[in-house]
Amino acid sequence: MEYYSKQIGNLIGALSRLPGIGNKTAQRLAFHILAMPPKDVRELANAMTDARENVKCCRECMTLTDDELCPICSNAKRNHKQIMVVENSRDLAAYEKTGKYTGVYHVLHGAISPLNGVGPGDIRLKELMSRLSRLDEDDDEVKTEVIVATGSDLEGETTAMYISKLVKPTGIKVTRIASGVPVGGDIEYIDEVTLLRALEGRTEL
Ligand code: ZN
Repeated sequence: MEYYSKQIGNLIGALSRLPGIGNKTAQRLAFHILAMPPKDVRELANAMTDARENVKCCRECMTLTDDELCPICSNAKRNHKQIMVVENSRDLAAYEKTGKYTGVYHVLHGAISPLNGVGPGDIRLKELMSRLSRLDEDDDEVKTEVIVATGSDLEGETTAMYISKLVKPTGIKVTRIASGVPVGGDIEYIDEVTLLRALEGRTEL
């Protein structure tokens, strides 16, 4: 980095801290930014700070959104008694892209991973349980279903088992998506047909 002036070095350093950006890519991006019209650079920087400052968690499902309640939770046409639990907002987007799922979601923002020091208290499980306790089961024929759609890697499976243990005593039905999802595969990279098949083939935990 000593080949570059301090400010260029700072820019390269900041970019290389992003996931998937190695030093080489960081240099290429930095020089691209330096060649951009100042107006475009300002727009890029503003988009990042605006998103970071204004995006928050939906108070119902915890997904990242601009409003108090995300568009899915505020949609009366969705089945609010079918709750699909996913690890992050990107997984939610993958299921939304299929256009076939009509329930709602709950975003955990991670998965239990003892090896990485991520315990049950570090993901949004407390929010899931308090949400389930608010559901009124009495005056409705539609029964609540929690669909666990965490990944099929060790962390995802550990999280699924944990959720099952938490939810089952409440009498609420817990299902797990079928294992059509490749082991360790990020849900967001899986094609829509495979996702739908995994959803349709879900089994009770
Ligand atoms: Zn929501």
